[in-house]
Amino acid sequence: MGAAVQNNPDILLITSDAALAANRHGGRAKCLQRLVRLDLPVPRTVALSFQAVKRIAAGQMPDIAQVDAQFGEEALLCVRPSSEDPDWGGPGAVLNIGMNDAQYRCLSERLGPGAAAALYSRFVQAYATHVARLDPDVFDGDPVESPKGLQRMLRAYEDEADEPFPQSRSDQLRGVLRSMARAWEGTSARLLRQAKGAPADAGLGLVVQEMIPGLGQGECGSGVLQLADPVTGLPQITGRYLSQSQGREALGAGAAAIYLEKDPRGPSLEELAPEAFEALKRDAALMRRRLREEMQVEFVIQNGEVHILDGVRVPRSPRAAVRIAVRLAEDGIIPPEEAVMRVDAHSVSELLHRQVAPDAAREVLATGIGASPGAATGRIVFSAAAAQASAARGEACILVRRETAPEDVRGMHAAAGVLTEKGGMTSHAAVIGRGLGLPCIVGASELTFNTRDKMLRTPAGRILRESDVITIDGSTGEILAGEPEMLEAALDDAFQTLMGWADTCRDIGVRANADTPADARTAHNFDAEGIGLCRTEHMFFEPGRLTVMREMIFADSSSGRAEVLARLLPMQRDDFIQLFKIMEGRPVCIRLFDPPLHEFLPATRSGQRELAEALDLPVSDVTRRIEAMAEYNPMLGLRGVRLGVTVPEIYEMQARAIFEATLESGAAGAPIVPEIMIPLVSAKREVELIKGRIDSVAATVRAQRGRDFTYRLGVMVETPRAALRAAEIAPNVAFLSFGTNDLTQMTYGLSRDDAGRFMSDYVNKGVFAEDPFHVLDIDGVGELLKLGAERGRAAHPGLTVSICGEHGGNPESIAFCREAGFDYVSCSPFRVPVARLAAAQLAIAEKIGVGPAKIP
Ligand code: PEP
Ligand code: MG
Repeated sequence: MGAAVQNNPDILLITSDAALAANRHGGRAKCLQRLVRLDLPVPRTVALSFQAVKRIAAGQMPDIAQVDAQFGEEALLCVRPSSEDPDWGGPGAVLNIGMNDAQYRCLSERLGPGAAAALYSRFVQAYATHVARLDPDVFDGDPVESPKGLQRMLRAYEDEADEPFPQSRSDQLRGVLRSMARAWEGTSARLLRQAKGAPADAGLGLVVQEMIPGLGQGECGSGVLQLADPVTGLPQITGRYLSQSQGREALGAGAAAIYLEKDPRGPSLEELAPEAFEALKRDAALMRRRLREEMQVEFVIQNGEVHILDGVRVPRSPRAAVRIAVRLAEDGIIPPEEAVMRVDAHSVSELLHRQVAPDAAREVLATGIGASPGAATGRIVFSAAAAQASAARGEACILVRRETAPEDVRGMHAAAGVLTEKGGMTSHAAVIGRGLGLPCIVGASELTFNTRDKMLRTPAGRILRESDVITIDGSTGEILAGEPEMLEAALDDAFQTLMGWADTCRDIGVRANADTPADARTAHNFDAEGIGLCRTEHMFFEPGRLTVMREMIFADSSSGRAEVLARLLPMQRDDFIQLFKIMEGRPVCIRLFDPPLHEFLPATRSGQRELAEALDLPVSDVTRRIEAMAEYNPMLGLRGVRLGVTVPEIYEMQARAIFEATLESGAAGAPIVPEIMIPLVSAKREVELIKGRIDSVAATVRAQRGRDFTYRLGVMVETPRAALRAAEIAPNVAFLSFGTNDLTQMTYGLSRDDAGRFMSDYVNKGVFAEDPFHVLDIDGVGELLKLGAERGRAAHPGLTVSICGEHGGNPESIAFCREAGFDYVSCSPFRVPVARLAAAQLAIAEKIGVGPAKIP
């Protein structure tokens, strides 16, 4: 009877040589065939192709008698979905097709009337709601287990549907297939799977399988088993079994379900049916080895005999995904390169959380629900726009909202952590926070939220305002005052192994943007190959330095400025010594001072009064000077190299600090070769002027110290003109690094600080496919990158080319940079592992001929 269907590619009996393909019959059908090929005890199954299901949805039923004829007359059937990628989901399985009055009578004798009634009424209920589309309320109040209840249910069905409950198995099957095919075409199902990456025209296959009842004489029941823990990925037999049950009932059965392996907490299948347990373990291990994946086995035991109904990929946390992939490779089941490909690079950041150090002093202000792990410190902001502005300034912030909504997501991306008054573990903030790997506390109702007045009141009556620094511990739910000491993420051995394999495959460098020793330590822990951007201005905001900086700004003459800067020199030298030491000889790229000077001056009246006092000047003088320095458009004003040209003493001091630190740090070990980067260049002459000055500082330091050193000078390409004129800039320097934050701002004419206000609108209306400050705009900004790299390299072969804007850690942007032949990307320290993995996946994908779109 198999031959008839085997000639029809749309209805195939699953045998070891049937012409089945995942892209025609779906992943489940293909997997079942692989189980059949392993000689596992799989019940007889027929696969319906995507085409067949599509036609069913359109009202064209295939020859169901032919399908029905594949199974014995007495058999009950079930239908399960089989989408191309199991992650795309599909309609729920329907069990026990074929239950009718005759079967009921027969089963009553074998199983007893209660069990038979339960089976029949569950099927009637499923059929009534999913196929006949009756209101589920019509069966309210009927206890499903009793024969009387069943009779009432059948009568209710007949009343509502105007026809008796269908008795023919093939009629029932037609109804079930039609309803499942149509469910796949529904709008919500379509949106759901598209959100999981399914194409708009994704097909659904269906498999019709003979039921092994899991009910009856001897040991009967059903369960699921897997050989690895879904949270840790460690080897651990996991799952549940429930006697006299079907489908996945064991998983929802609570205490009634038993453990699989012997367990001190309660009875187990190993004790109840040791032979069946051993057979299952053997089958699961065989599946793991031959299907080259950690599988969850859905099984039925019928009178002591094991039947394998299905195998699905074990669902797994990001941590488990890493360990499972590494163990498969270590066991020789998959090659290491494949293990690298199997871990989603975007999800790796979830593994990398900082924690509050266990012995740090904790001043707990309030407690909420720890909804996304890891700790974060930042200044309080009360709106998504403020979070984006804060991120654009390079300042960590904690986004505080009563609750979050989709329009807050961009702000959440920009924040270091999120704190909400409302919600629980599955609220919007919690779900999105976990998705982003962003520490998050929800339901912190102990705090009084007054977001309009930008205030929080703690239970002890303390008021927290915008800009106050707090720390949230998303693991414990504690909201802490200030900035307690943090512990860097602990990376387990599996993670290190995977990263080691990734690094051997990778063909583009990964550095970190690190401004402070703490950042540098994180970068080093994550094996960044160096620092690609150290923004030195952050160092001047530190206590004790700000006033000196202000004094320098207020100095009247070049010599006055140089004199004040001489006091900053040892501090700055110390900063660099620390960075060189932490990075242990890896390259450190130091960007010279970049922001407009007025950013260092007080904006408030009281701040100006304090400054007047500190500088011993009349307040009016201070106010006048500050007003005189104000710019209409400071981001396009006197900043970056323009300051270097017009107020040269700052760059001279920084260059001296770098060179002195180079000599001191290099004295102990291998010589250090610092990299110095000039920001905001737009003209060749700017580079020539700065290069001349830095060379002369180098010569002075060499002469004074009587020791030699070298350094590499580079330009940060962050104005469109610098990209366009790269050919004349490049011969003067050793490297070009694209600062895509400013370059995006200037290419679009779109303020980094203000775009947050309307970015959601722009993305929602499809004006921009994505926020270009988040994902590199390949068409526009990308063209400038390509052009700049090509022109620069043509004029200066051997020129190092890199990217150091926020885009450097984004897998899609890394793909672009790699394609354009960049030497390295530089990103925030926590994104370094993501970048290392993504870069390795790109190299492997190219080697094995898979397009980047296919990267998991
Ligand atoms: C940039 O502009 O891309 C950059 C990295 O510098 P910053 O963000 O400090 O302006
Ligand atoms: Mg910049």
